[in-house]
Amino acid sequence: MTRYAYRRFPFVTPPELAGGAGAGRYPVAIVGAGPIGLALAIDLALHGVRSVVLDDNDVVSVGSRAICWAKRSLEIFDRLGVGERMVEKGVTWRVGRLFNGDKELYRFDLLPEAGHKMPAFINLQQYYVEEYLVDRCHDFPDLIDLRWKNAVIDHEARADAVRVEVATPDGRYSLMADWLVAADGSHSTTRSRMGLPFEGETFHEQFLIVDVEMEEDPFGADGVPERWFWFHPPFHPGQSALLHRQPDNIYRIDLQLGPDADADVEKDPERVLPRIRAIVGDRPFEIDWLSVYRFRCARLDRFVHGRVIFAGDSAHLVSPFGARGGNGGIQDVDNLGWKLAAVVKGEVNSTLLETYDEERSIAADENILNSTRATRFMTPKSATEMTFRDAVLALAGSAPFARRLVNSGRLSLPANLAGCRLQGAEGEGAGLAPGSVCLDAPVAEAGADGAQGWLLDHLGGRFMLLTIGEGARAMALPRLARLHVALEGEAAAPGDLVDRGFVAARYGRDVAYLVRPDQHVVARFGADEAPALSGILGGAVAAAGKGVPA
Ligand SMILES: Cc1cc2nc3c(=O)[nH]c(=O)nc-3n(C[C@H](O)[C@H](O)[C@H](O)COP(=O)(O)OP(=O)(O)OC[C@H]3O[C@@H](n4cnc5c(N)ncnc54)[C@H](O)[C@@H]3O)c2cc1C
Repeated sequence: MTRYAYRRFPFVTPPELAGGAGAGRYPVAIVGAGPIGLALAIDLALHGVRSVVLDDNDVVSVGSRAICWAKRSLEIFDRLGVGERMVEKGVTWRVGRLFNGDKELYRFDLLPEAGHKMPAFINLQQYYVEEYLVDRCHDFPDLIDLRWKNAVIDHEARADAVRVEVATPDGRYSLMADWLVAADGSHSTTRSRMGLPFEGETFHEQFLIVDVEMEEDPFGADGVPERWFWFHPPFHPGQSALLHRQPDNIYRIDLQLGPDADADVEKDPERVLPRIRAIVGDRPFEIDWLSVYRFRCARLDRFVHGRVIFAGDSAHLVSPFGARGGNGGIQDVDNLGWKLAAVVKGEVNSTLLETYDEERSIAADENILNSTRATRFMTPKSATEMTFRDAVLALAGSAPFARRLVNSGRLSLPANLAGCRLQGAEGEGAGLAPGSVCLDAPVAEAGADGAQGWLLDHLGGRFMLLTIGEGARAMALPRLARLHVALEGEAAAPGDLVDRGFVAARYGRDVAYLVRPDQHVVARFGADEAPALSGILGGAVAAAGKGVPA
């Protein structure tokens, strides 16, 4: 265990056992209170949908797992009500430096432009992320029933519901759910019970992860945290290494060990301590956590199987390089939450869930591709791959084209849903294309004392029409909320937002956007075009005959 003060969440006898009543019935049952299960429960609650979350454990994530949370995840966490707390606790970073041996090849800045509420990345241990999500779940006592020490041991999917068998310290019980979401992680028992192939590639390379607590900062005079990655580090010849700072003066060190390393030997502190000293020099430190891991890239062929839906690591798995595992799973939640809520509330029919499968499959493939490429670059499999890799590294110091080929993990970005069936027209003029995620920008509320804030705080959770610039003010869609942004020099009406210098550049002017509840653009309309719902949102929503979900 790390030094993190783990809270043991109490087991409470579930009503099905306490009252001796029959199986309770829930709109949604979620297996797993990891980051994905917890975030989904919150998203559903924000849509007024009740869920029961069943976890076999009674603590948040044990040990050191995810630390890097990308801007898009932070924006989603913010929509769920926990983003600011995470940023406050997390270590914000944006600059990465790459070394070959002791020579710096180049550095990159992940957020070179101003005008975003959320930083490019924070580092925050997964146990804090889960702790904050658990606390947020407690804000919805009538909508989220979070049950610790409730292991799902069986399920049976029927035409109209799923029967779930649960084992607890007080005995077994069953419950019925309209929908079952399997957020039960990489070893998903839901997946294996259903006999679903989880195909992909296993990498034999091993990595040593060591978290050390250290008062003294290794990042130089200004102490601004950065991501440092070495190929062929002088302190660990022939391999790769990564150094990252986390909150509480904890530093993550990843050391590549090779495929033949003996994990037990490598975990011996007598072996680990000199390795760490070689990196941090004579700064005093203490080991907080260490483990040796291998990883896989794999995915389910489909994420929606009737009334059982997979999200997070149960659906797709990547190597940690690029930080696409947890970040990808949080985007699953963003995509699934509003759709499942709309289905549960009877606003649309369940074919909408097919678009979750479609959109998140594309994202999973992209994540797996990037993760696999990074892993290949870092751990070349053949003499040819090694020659290519070393030639790229040799050139990268002086040749910008070679820098683009250096791959120590392409960091998680928002999925682009262009071309998927829910997306509509790209109208005239310039601006964000359908399928893109809306960009944040500083805005103020209309009026002399208008509060300053951020555009994304006003988008999401429901469909809305975003109109930008006076030429778009009159544009409207029936039954749809509308948000108007007045640009510089334009008069603002009550209820409008006022651009603080970035909206026009990012969105264009005199333009309207149909925005999804997950802040993605469905369609863009120029000022001379009449916004229309027909032909957009595809057959899935239209088939329900009820229009756009509220
Ligand atoms: C070393 C390492 C570093 C990583 N770094 C990053 C990073 O920097 N950024 C990033 O985005 N991702 C990272 N990841 C990936 C990230 O940790 C996972 O993607 C994330 O934990 C997935 O969340 P999840 O909720 O899907 O699954 P999990 O976190 O595995 O949660 C699953 C939950 O389900 C519960 N459960 C399982 N079976 C049952 C059952 N039968 N009944 C009830 N409950 C059950 C488990 O107890 C657990 O609480 C890293 C992973 C590793 C291993």
